[in-house]
Amino acid sequence: MPTNGAGKPAKKLISIQRNAAQHWVGDGFPVRTLLAYPELGSLISPFLLLDYAGPIEFPPTEKHLGVAEHPHRGFETVTIVYAGEVEHRDSSGGGGRIGPGDVQWMTAASGVVHEEFHGRDFARRGGILEMVQLWVNLPARDKMSPPRYQNILNNQIPIASLPNGQGSVRVIAGEFGRFTGPARTFTPIHVWDLQLASEQRIDLAVPDGYNATLVVLKGTVRVNGCETIGVAEAGLFDRAGGHICIDSAHDATALLLCGEPIDEPIVGSGPFVMNNAEEIRQAIADYQGGKMGHLSPRGTYSEIP
Ligand code: MN
Repeated sequence: MPTNGAGKPAKKLISIQRNAAQHWVGDGFPVRTLLAYPELGSLISPFLLLDYAGPIEFPPTEKHLGVAEHPHRGFETVTIVYAGEVEHRDSSGGGGRIGPGDVQWMTAASGVVHEEFHGRDFARRGGILEMVQLWVNLPARDKMSPPRYQNILNNQIPIASLPNGQGSVRVIAGEFGRFTGPARTFTPIHVWDLQLASEQRIDLAVPDGYNATLVVLKGTVRVNGCETIGVAEAGLFDRAGGHICIDSAHDATALLLCGEPIDEPIVGSGPFVMNNAEEIRQAIADYQGGKMGHLSPRGTYSEIP
C-alpha cells in the first residue's frame, strides 16, 4: 500500500487554483475550468485541462442537451461521471452511454469528430448532473496515431481500501498498491478517485519527478499540514518529492492526478493541441477538408448504443 513517503521529502505545494468562473459548454454542461494549459502547461503536464461540470439539477426534458459535432486532435478526452448520464459518439465508431462511476477515455490522437449529450433516459427523468472532463496530452510521437475509445464501467475500476478506515481509492488509470486501473495510457499516469473519511490523515506516495494535482470535488482538505483546498479548487504540487499528506476535515471526494511530464512545446487552438503553429494550421485544414470524418445524421436517440 503506497501510504508512506518511502523516506523522500513531501512534494511542495506550488499553488492553489481557486474561484473558477462557470461557463456553459453547449447547452448541457455548466463547467468550471479548474486547470488549463495556457496558464499552467508545464506544471500540470501531461494533463492539459480539467472542466468540472455541476453538480446542477436539470428539469425533465425531451431536448438533446449537450454539445453538437466538433473535432479534436492531438490529445485524449477523459470523462468521469459522478451523477447523471452522458452519451457520446464519434467518427471513429466509438460511442456509448455512461453513468455514475463510469469513465469514457477517448483518444482523439490524429483526429475525430464527436458529440456529447445528456443520456436520453436521464434527460427525460431529470436530475443532478456532475462530471469531470479531463484532457490528457499525447507526446509528439503519438499525436497522429489512430483514434481509439475505451468505455470503462464502474465495475471494472478496482477500489483500494485505505488503512484504518481512512477511505478508499478508485484506480482509474495507473497503479495504486497492488491495484491496476483499466485505462490504457500513452505515458505513465495515475488517476486516483479518492473518497476520504472525515478527520483522517492520509499519506499518499506519489512518484518523485511526476507532476501532481489534487482536485477537490466535495469537502475540504488540508495538504502537507497547512494549506486548505476546498470544493472546485485544485492544489498543484512540485515534481520533486515522494509523497503528499492530506488531512480531511469532513468526508471528501478528490481526484489525484499525477504523471510523468511531457516536456515538449504545447501549441493549442480550441479543440486542437499540437506542438507548433504549423500543425495547428494543418489540423484546421484537415478538419475543414473532412479528414477527421463525419457523424452520420443523428436521427433519434435510440440509434445510440
Ligand atoms: Mn469534445
